[in-house]
Amino acid sequence: MFQPDLSLKGKIIVIDDEPSVRKLIKRLLERKGHDVDTAKTGEEGVAKILDNEYDIVITDMLLPGMDGMAVLEKIKEHTPGIDVVLITGFGSIESAVSFMKAGALDYITKPINSDHLEIVIQKAIERKELIKAARERDLYFKMSLTDSLTGLFNHKYFQEQVQRQIVHSKRKTQSLSIMLVDIDDFKKVNDNFGHQTGDHVLQIISTSILKACRSHDTVARYGGEEFGVILPETDQEKARAVALRIQETIAGHKFKNVPHPVTVSIGVSIYPMDGHETAELIHNADLALYHSKRTGKNRYTLFFESGIARN
Ligand code: GH3
Ligand code: MG
Ligand code: MG
Repeated sequence: MFQPDLSLKGKIIVIDDEPSVRKLIKRLLERKGHDVDTAKTGEEGVAKILDNEYDIVITDMLLPGMDGMAVLEKIKEHTPGIDVVLITGFGSIESAVSFMKAGALDYITKPINSDHLEIVIQKAIERKELIKAARERDLYFKMSLTDSLTGLFNHKYFQEQVQRQIVHSKRKTQSLSIMLVDIDDFKKVNDNFGHQTGDHVLQIISTSILKACRSHDTVARYGGEEFGVILPETDQEKARAVALRIQETIAGHKFKNVPHPVTVSIGVSIYPMDGHETAELIHNADLALYHSKRTGKNRYTLFFESGIARN
């Protein structure tokens, strides 16, 4: 059941060559609190539409010169966010149908029925608000899962995804590799070449890791200059190959403002042999990473063969 939210107001333009129709629609909609503009011809209407931010265009079908269909086409081409409502003579329903097929939202018939007009406009405005709210929700949801500098997933998403993948791997009795990748001596890159260059290096390394992985792997920015990678259906041999590929891709990159190669250290833990829980697997990947750092950097360590398993 349609429950109008009368607090929502729109900016509307009415295009009609008959002064009485323009006046009537303007008066009816202004009485409801909308902001209403008018135009006598399609050309004048389109010029105003390109210059203003209307929510809705109400246009007559038959206009001297540019007709309603041409107005609709122009709007769909240049300002696709605007809804178009057609005014059509009673008995021209066929043209109304072709107008709707071309992308119009709705139509009203002449003589204008004030209740019908109000309902059509109110619905159109509420639909716009709903779309806007849904877009904002989507954007917010995306933002809450991604890192703005690199576009990778963030720490929160990484943790959740490890959890999900453990459940999946358990069900499928498959192994799962968790990888932490940390840039070597990154502080020196910042100190010697500036923070902006540091940011650039982070972005390139993000892309390099993505390139070295498969499409169903998850790559996240785990911390400042540390990345997390989740590799489903990946045992130690496959994990080894991915780690090597990541290292080679990054070490082989010539950075714009850094005159030497940048390297990374990697730590890997594997489900189920290195742990069954998210925290344990991440902790063990971190211990393996620390082992790579301590033993000279620019290398990868698989937790199970590092001899650092906790007693
Ligand atoms: P190690 O080889 O032991 O990993 O040394 P490191 O210098 O890479 O590590 P450390 O933890 O000492 O320093 C990390 C640096 O990363 C310090 C911090 O300022 C920098 N960093 C963290 N986030 C960002 C960022 O978003 N942009 C830039 N440019 N630098 C960042
Ligand atoms: Mg580092
Ligand atoms: Mg670090």
